Parts: sequence; C-alpha cells; structure tokens
Amino acid sequence: MASATPSLGGIAPRDETILVVEDEEPIRELVATALRFTGFNVETAVSGAEALAQARNGAYALLVLDVNLPDLDGFSVCRKLRSGGDRVPVVFLTARDDPADLRAGFTGGGDDYVTKPFSLEELMLRIDAVLRRANGNGHGAQSEPARLVCGDLILDEDACRVWRGETEVALSPTEFRLLRYLMLNGDRVVSKTQILDHVWDYEFAGDPSAVETYISYLRRKLDDRDAKLIRTVRGFGYALRSPDATPPRRP
Ligand code: CA
Repeated sequence: MASATPSLGGIAPRDETILVVEDEEPIRELVATALRFTGFNVETAVSGAEALAQARNGAYALLVLDVNLPDLDGFSVCRKLRSGGDRVPVVFLTARDDPADLRAGFTGGGDDYVTKPFSLEELMLRIDAVLRRANGNGHGAQSEPARLVCGDLILDEDACRVWRGETEVALSPTEFRLLRYLMLNGDRVVSKTQILDHVWDYEFAGDPSAVETYISYLRRKLDDRDAKLIRTVRGFGYALRSPDATPPRRP
C-alpha cells in the first residue's frame, strides 16, 4: 500500500458517514483511518452479507466496496442494493483491471472505482468527485467537473478524457492512469517505482521498463509540439512541467 498522506486541501469536517467494505484488515483500516482523517464518520463491514445488512439499516453517504469479498462479490452487493431501490453512491476497490469486470460493476450501478494498489490521495479524489456529483451543489460548494490542469493539458476525471489545448487526446486506460498520477503530483518528481506502485496492478511483475515504454507512449501522444510537458529527471524519475512555470535560471 502507498503511504501517501491524503490531502484534500482544506476540506471541512463532514457529517456524512461512509461504509467501508473490505475483508482485508490492513486495507480496511487504512481507508477508514484516511476517511476519518478527512472528517467523515466511518463504519466498516468485512463481508458482502454484512455490507447489505448495514446498508439496509444505515444512512450512508457513500460505500467504498471491495470487489473481492469472501462471500458475495462487491458487484453483486451493489446490484442487490440497486434492485432494492438503494441509490447510495458506490466506489469499488478492485484488484482487477479487466474492462469486462468494470463494465459489470457499472452495469450493476457502481459510480466509480480505484484499482489496487491505489494511493489514498487517488481514492479520496474519487470519493470527493462522486459525492460532489451525488450531492449536486452540496456543502455549499460550486459543483465543478473534477479536472486536473497543467498548462494547456486538461484531464477530466469524471469523463476519463484528456485534451491538449483544443485537441482531445485518446489514451488507453494505463496511459490515462499514468498521466493522472503525474498530474496529481504536479511538478513533484516521481520515481519509476512509485509509478509502478500507483499505476499498475498488484499482479504486475513490476518491470521498470514498462514505465519507460508508457512514458514514451504518452510523449508521442501529448508532447508532439514545442511545449514539452513530461520531463525526465535522470536518476530520479519523471515530472510534469507546466509551460507556464518559469524555470530557474543560472547566470
Ligand atoms: Ca478483499
């Protein structure tokens, strides 16, 4: 698991309760602690049956729902809730990155997902985006699409679309997650190991050359013009550089 500190930039304490459903204790506790840290009330469940029972009796703002549970899988839990008329927003935790699985999840009424291993930062952003969508202009805040911006590069988290200037860029899911991770880190340099931990699945062998390959794909799609966004910091890793930023100069 990542040890990233969740940062939601000045989020106010909330009176909403989130149900975290996960049989693996370390992940359950990590997610619950992070959510409490950002001001949510948190309850937990360790199985699909427990989740269904609690969801029927409780008023939750959102469910964080693991797909791989010991009894019912998370998708079935979500479908059962929906067929019973429960529209509670659901963010899945999935170790699987298979589009068929995810389609099954969304057909079953899920709102979003993160793929393990996820960073807490990423999960918090997803939860925040889903809650904003669910609440409309809830919390008195302006409801804006969840967008990451770097110079003329725009990534829409909700629609999973990317633009450079006026031009939309088609990215594969892995390219999208890689770019998103770079953008979440701003101009902070991230190592290949960090990228592997955050962008690829658990079962992935962890070959750093895959990172180089996907960085080159992104460059080909995004950096084919004068203002280059992705920079290599030799011996350390990669970072995005906003073309607006003034680089430090030596005399
Ligand atoms: Ca699990």
